[in-house]
Amino acid sequence: MLNADFHVHTILSKHHFLDRIKLADGLNTPAEMVKGAADSGLNCIAITDHNVLFDPELAKKLTKEYGIVVLAGIELYLNKKDVIAIGITELPKVNNLSEFEEEVHKQGGLLIAPHPNDPLGRGYKEFECFDAIEVVNGFGPWGFEELVATADRLKKAQICGSDAHCIRQLGWTFCMVDADPDPDSIIEAIKERKSTPVYGKIPKDVQYLYYFQKYMLGQALFKPALRRL
Ligand SMILES: [Zn+2]
Ligand SMILES: [Zn+2]
Repeated sequence: MLNADFHVHTILSKHHFLDRIKLADGLNTPAEMVKGAADSGLNCIAITDHNVLFDPELAKKLTKEYGIVVLAGIELYLNKKDVIAIGITELPKVNNLSEFEEEVHKQGGLLIAPHPNDPLGRGYKEFECFDAIEVVNGFGPWGFEELVATADRLKKAQICGSDAHCIRQLGWTFCMVDADPDPDSIIEAIKERKSTPVYGKIPKDVQYLYYFQKYMLGQALFKPALRRL
């Protein structure tokens, strides 16, 4: 059984709004996040930066280096909502969700609906084309029981994602996946709905600490991390 977090951001993330005003989204490098995940007891994370597909080769390298499975993914802003794809090697050019679904599945990847009940309305609520629903988001609660019931009814996998944007936000939110520690086995297990959500959210002070660092102290704090890339 693996402890897996399918929603993690790094300093490479290009949030559609923050990037425009030149603010970074994630605070730590990929290597720092993977090490942080390993240190917090996770066996697998998916790096799902906003609008940038994580380099599959770097994912393999980090997997070897830190001994946990790193899946390459993306959180794409599509028609004013977020959608996560995992296990793809190329980012297709698409105009809508059904085109994206087709391309992701053609590449053997997984389509995940993150934070469906996000209060800012950035979550898809129609789950037909998705493989999995993020029933727990680290910043939630956002309707855990309702999402679990919906996933059961629609026979969709239930996964959890911390939505961590810095090391300290890792390890609070994860799901258990009945798979071997390799990417193909994990993706297959999700398709077969062999994942069990664990309810856990990031403590409020750890959420706020991140926002405080990001917005109040500004770029100064994460410039050193940028130089380490
Ligand atoms: Zn999101
Ligand atoms: Zn996110």
